[in-house]
Amino acid sequence: HEAKQNRTGFHRFQGEGRQDAAARLSLLGDLRRAVEDPEQLTLHYQPKVAVDTGALVGVEALARWHHPARGSVSPAEFIPVLEVTNLMHRFTERVLTMALGQARAWLDAGHRVPIAVNVSARSLLDPQFPVRVAALLAESGVPGDLLSIEVTEYALMSDPDTAIRALHRLREAGVTASIDDYGTGYSSMTYLKVLPIAELKIDRSFVLDIAENNSSRALVASTVELGHRLGLTVVAEGVEDEAAVEALREIGCDTAQGYHFDRPLPAGELTARLQETASPSLLPH
Ligand code: C2E
Ligand code: MG
Ligand code: MG
Ligand code: MG
Repeated sequence: HEAKQNRTGFHRFQGEGRQDAAARLSLLGDLRRAVEDPEQLTLHYQPKVAVDTGALVGVEALARWHHPARGSVSPAEFIPVLEVTNLMHRFTERVLTMALGQARAWLDAGHRVPIAVNVSARSLLDPQFPVRVAALLAESGVPGDLLSIEVTEYALMSDPDTAIRALHRLREAGVTASIDDYGTGYSSMTYLKVLPIAELKIDRSFVLDIAENNSSRALVASTVELGHRLGLTVVAEGVEDEAAVEALREIGCDTAQGYHFDRPLPAGELTARLQETASPSLLPH
């Protein structure tokens, strides 16, 4: 149409921009309600397993939004909307509260399950964040070493001084940090040297084709070696088949996560899994 013929593309861009803005505004209104509604906002939990034994070593909490009219809305769609508003602070607080409530419930049932929560740049850089985390830990009675946070390279690099300060404060409460989607952002050797982190999570784009692609394999192997030399645990995300597990085993990667093992699961399904595998040596053969 007419706007498309504009040589600068300005009208087309402006038109789309307005539509995007309207859509975003309506999504934001819906999110404001969703964040307070336990029917709409829930967490699923995806197992992290030891590469050598397949044993569960923890879970990652992933937000799920069930919109009353639209059905399920992907975090890839709503996290960026939250990220540009202060509603992100409330959202992170709700996610932490739900995750710690679940950790508490598992503890009460005799399961010590480390939980990782994704934390956006906006929340990590909020000066109140470490204080809020400490308060939520105290309220839930969950030991800080059962909680970790996953942050992206972007969150760490956009304001490294503030990020480093926050990570140190969290560590005082026993909470460790992972760099999520490692390898896709501005990986800087300087920051790897000074950041108080415990884990690298290699992005799934390097893991999906690790068995067939020599470059992916080389990159993962070097990252695992780098991580180990820095004293970090290394996790591969996006493990979808046995061939990938085999490659990770040869490389010596510590932890794996992906559809090959489990999809993100509702808490109830994970609880059932925990009860099955609680003491495998005691189970009849
Ligand atoms: P992420 O933290 O890197 O999480 C991994 C994503 O990969 C999840 O998508 C997960 O469902 C998916 N995944 C897991 N295993 C596999 C696999 O084997 N193959 C493939 N293709 N995908 C796999 P999900 O749940 O849609 O979340 C997308 C992103 O949204 C997350 O990426 C994270 O950055 C963000 N996110 C999710 N929940 C939260 C939250 O509570 N807070 C914040 N700030 N961000 C969140
Ligand atoms: Mg993550
Ligand atoms: Mg990730
Ligand atoms: Mg990823």
